Amino acid sequence: MLINGELVESESGNWLSSLNPANEEIIGRIPAASAADVQRAYLAAEAAQPAWAAMTPLARGGLLRKVAQAMRERGEEILHLEVIDTGNTISKMRGDIESAAKAMEFFSGLGSEIKGESVPVSADNLHVSIRDPYGVVGRIVPFNHPIKFASNAIAAPLMAGNTVLVKPPEQSPLSAGILAEICRDILPPGVVNILTGNGMPVGDAIVRHPGIKRIAFTGSVATGMAIQRAAAETSVKHISLELGGKNPLIAFPDMDPDKIAEVAVSAMNFAWQGQSCGSTSRLLLHESLYDAVLKRVVERVAALRLGDPLDPQSQMGPLNSKPHYDRVCGLVQSGITEKARLMIGGARPAGTQFEKGYWLLPTVFADVHRHMRIAQEEIFGPVLSVFKWRDEQEAIDLANSTDYGLTASIWTNDIKTALRVAKAVRSGYVWVNGASGHFYGTSFGGMKNSGLGREEGIDELLSYTELKSIHFRIS
Ligand code: NAD
Repeated sequence: MLINGELVESESGNWLSSLNPANEEIIGRIPAASAADVQRAYLAAEAAQPAWAAMTPLARGGLLRKVAQAMRERGEEILHLEVIDTGNTISKMRGDIESAAKAMEFFSGLGSEIKGESVPVSADNLHVSIRDPYGVVGRIVPFNHPIKFASNAIAAPLMAGNTVLVKPPEQSPLSAGILAEICRDILPPGVVNILTGNGMPVGDAIVRHPGIKRIAFTGSVATGMAIQRAAAETSVKHISLELGGKNPLIAFPDMDPDKIAEVAVSAMNFAWQGQSCGSTSRLLLHESLYDAVLKRVVERVAALRLGDPLDPQSQMGPLNSKPHYDRVCGLVQSGITEKARLMIGGARPAGTQFEKGYWLLPTVFADVHRHMRIAQEEIFGPVLSVFKWRDEQEAIDLANSTDYGLTASIWTNDIKTALRVAKAVRSGYVWVNGASGHFYGTSFGGMKNSGLGREEGIDELLSYTELKSIHFRIS
């Protein structure tokens, strides 16, 4: 862990093991932080914050760019660790290292955008607003893209003049150790503190700390709600939540079935086993396309190569952990019980290399109805649910028929249809004739239970500041 510029163990003396989910071998261990460690980190962050905020934005941004450069220099080492710790396949995970560095670079240039305004509402005063950093920020991140989220987690709050406590995922924590070394070597002590361990007690102690007024969380809806409750028990806090998705890909009759099948499979992100909040896990096909697209999707899924995540040829690896694997398998079983049509997958792959580890074949269910659990619950696994619709309103109703509202992907060449449907879907990030891509500078985040607040753009940077109005009497 990193506390006050030093790599340290937990005061508790406890450790947790991390497993390679492809073969269940122990590959490393991490300190299991305690509430006392959180307090130690908080005091370091609190002490470091005034001097950090007093640096010019140019100087702060310069240090963030050095962190980005160091991540790239140690990119292969981070990549190897990340792949064996998460089970995500190496060819796609390479992009995560680049995204981690880019997040730093993006925010490093935005310091001068942390502006207030002057407002001419009385002749006797000069009315201005300025933006103050919160002080110490807490950020808690999930298992699916550990280094990318840990890096994203520190970029915006640091640029806004805050110091940070980061809590990496307990299932895949090892790359955070390298980030800790990089931050120790580049940033002043206490500016970034990294605390490993379980949600309880580490995440919870961060959330409840009365001195930490700004919390940003990425993870499941259930944990997001628990965090809102816990925070409210100790003090009034600004909480932003990036939560789950059950995202629709809606294909209109004017589209080519080959193209839709291609994007439906690529936007499921099988390279990380569908474990992506933005995966379009509900494929909503117009009845005229249904049979043709379904057949092609099944052919493409059948051709996916499962294998060692470190092999560049592998297109899918194992699920991240045993509890998660059991949960995903339970949802697959519910699809079978509720009589969705299992087209392919739904079982452990054959072969000795798949006997150990959390392997599940990529799975497609057809004839899914909106009342089924596989239509409503985020599976966060390699499971695609396919639906049929007849008219535009039915497609919109289906798209909006879950408690989630993160992303949506709309496929049509009719501009009026595209505009109508993009406006009607209750999702925070919508692609027309696209899917999956994130565009830094545009704000990402969810509606409904998918979240609160926006990231990856100027809104995120400003969300780490509090607005203060000042009135100068001039007459
Ligand atoms: P999770 O909610 O189980 O855990 C996320 C983090 O919260 C972990 O670090 C965990 O230790 C911590 N935590 C657990 N209980 C806590 C508590 N009571 N208080 C404070 N912290 C606690 O989520 P997960 O299984 O790691 O990740 C998968 C989920 O993340 C999915 O729902 C996925 O959609 C979501 N996700 C969302 C986005 C987004 O940008 N919207 C991105 C990635 C993942």
